[in-house]
Amino acid sequence: IPEYAFIGRSNVGKSSLINMLTERKSLAKTSGRPGKTQLINHFKINENWFLVDLPGYGYAKVSKKEKRTFQKYITNYFLQRQQLVCSFVLIDIRHKPQPIDLEFMQWMGENGIPFAIVFTKADKLKPQAIQRQVSTYLQYLLEDIWEEAPQYFITSSSKKMGRDELLSYIEAINLEFFEVNKN
Ligand code: GDP
Repeated sequence: IPEYAFIGRSNVGKSSLINMLTERKSLAKTSGRPGKTQLINHFKINENWFLVDLPGYGYAKVSKKEKRTFQKYITNYFLQRQQLVCSFVLIDIRHKPQPIDLEFMQWMGENGIPFAIVFTKADKLKPQAIQRQVSTYLQYLLEDIWEEAPQYFITSSSKKMGRDELLSYIEAINLEFFEVNKN
């Protein structure tokens, strides 16, 4: 079964987003404090795909050793997971582009791992500010990494914004995946 991974810095709003997407609040609990989501969690959305909750990265309070272990674990997941169709990199829309996120996306690009960006907490900004933040981000990515802008989504878990767009996108690329792999 194809799967779609969600990853981002601790406290970016990943648990809330997964709750919004799955609507099964008991399955992915919001942590309330950063760095709590530790292990890979699989959520079976329907017969056709899994949502995968990866641990948050970049939490300042974990040791260097933990960071290395984590990195190895995640790296292996991304490089070896055959059924991983697309990953969603979560970015808090309020923050200016962070090196750790840019580096991560660069690494994904270099290794040919398809990803899309999910901007979170859009309810915290006015529409104009949202546009400004998105443009800034895309500019960074286009300068450093890509010739083409990646697919992106603007979401707010507290306002249930971007849910249908994100789910439709996954359903669409999932159909494509089954078409391509039919034979
Ligand atoms: P995680 O560590 O990435 O799983 O992040 P959580 O989902 O636990 O959220 C971290 C904090 O951000 C919590 O205090 C949430 O209430 C808050 N948060 C998450 N999503 C949103 C959102 O869409 N809007 C707002 N305003 N706050 C959010």
